[in-house]
Amino acid sequence: MAAVAPDIDDLRLCVHCGICLPQCPTYRVLGEEMDSPRGRLYLMRAVAEGRLGFTDAFARHMDLCLGCRACETACPAGVPFGSLLEATRSQLVERGPRPRTALLRRLVHGMFPEPRRLGLMLGGLKLYQRSGLRRVVRASHVLALAPRLAAMESLLPDVPSAPALPELTPAQGRRRLGRAGVLTGCIQRHLYPDVNRDTARLLSLAGYDVVVPRDQGCCGALELHAGFLDDFRDRARKLIAAFPVDLDVIVVNAAGCGSAMKEYTRWMPGEADVVAFAEKIKDVSEALVDAELPLGPVDLTVTYHDACHLAHGQRIRAEPRRLLGRIPDLKIVPLPESDLCCGSAGVYNLLEPEVAGRLLTMKIDRIAETGAAAVVTGNPGCLLQIAKGCRERGLDLEVLHPVTLLARSVRRALP
Ligand code: SF4
Ligand code: SF4
Repeated sequence: MAAVAPDIDDLRLCVHCGICLPQCPTYRVLGEEMDSPRGRLYLMRAVAEGRLGFTDAFARHMDLCLGCRACETACPAGVPFGSLLEATRSQLVERGPRPRTALLRRLVHGMFPEPRRLGLMLGGLKLYQRSGLRRVVRASHVLALAPRLAAMESLLPDVPSAPALPELTPAQGRRRLGRAGVLTGCIQRHLYPDVNRDTARLLSLAGYDVVVPRDQGCCGALELHAGFLDDFRDRARKLIAAFPVDLDVIVVNAAGCGSAMKEYTRWMPGEADVVAFAEKIKDVSEALVDAELPLGPVDLTVTYHDACHLAHGQRIRAEPRRLLGRIPDLKIVPLPESDLCCGSAGVYNLLEPEVAGRLLTMKIDRIAETGAAAVVTGNPGCLLQIAKGCRERGLDLEVLHPVTLLARSVRRALP
């Protein structure tokens, strides 16, 4: 297993000013310096300089980080916290599994990045939900004995049917914009297949020939964030090979995936095919923001939650808001602290349900204050997490991806 040491020059960029502390969700929840960006960087540097070993306490502070990168946005010194964390986690992976979460990590990393296995597991779950067994299990309170399993069970919505998309959808727009590939993702393809279908349809209406390679796998984001760098590179190279080289753009509608794919070159430098692939990656909001689309009215009040890997990872905040702003009659009300992590953070909500739950409570409080009838966000993990929070709070809100609203708007405009 090839670990990468965090760059010592990057670690030394931190001037300990503390500006990032109030922006850090784990510092806000736990109130511990060592669970803040400054504290974590101090620990990483102490390890890099040989003043501290890879102790259990060190690993715990690194595990408790969401990898949300809010600290990068806040930092005036330009500390690239995300890549430092990923390198540090690769060193921890090299030292062997952490007993506290080893089993669940193995399950999650063996399942989530494998679309076929995930599909089989979700097929079984659909049976569990529809047979009435879920009602029996929930009424028995047996899940209280296994909090991480309970977190997983409560997160999942009713599993929909997920038919495969056509491999080619021709352009329908008035202007022809080129050929666009679409990433179908792992969670997105199984739990939000309509988001993928609407993405392809909107791109086609905008003027793209839309290509959805059937044999595409996972982008590797989960493994990158957990420090499994060999597995991450392996998945990334397979994904690159699955997409035709003549595409003009590759569109991603999951913030975490897009962020990792744009950063492929950091982890695979100097590989020409990786550079060419990464340069084509666009979030769906970037791809559609100025597109000619027949938009009809949607009479709804919504609020927008910034997914961390869009706002902090890709610095995309304006495009989704501008896109939503183009929908006639749609009213957008601001969400206070819209870029504070909802606690989803990949699989963090499964591994660390307590901290994730406290962040979700804060997020749902803010959402409820807005009075909106729907929350819009561009990442499947956030969709799942916020929907769970609304269900548990008894809030009757729609939780929607931006392309779902756009597709609704287009449907109302077309005859
Ligand atoms: S990545 Fe997020 S949780 Fe981790 S230190 Fe930075 S702000 Fe805090
Ligand atoms: S804002 Fe940047 S320089 Fe200041 S403490 Fe945080 S990471 Fe260090």
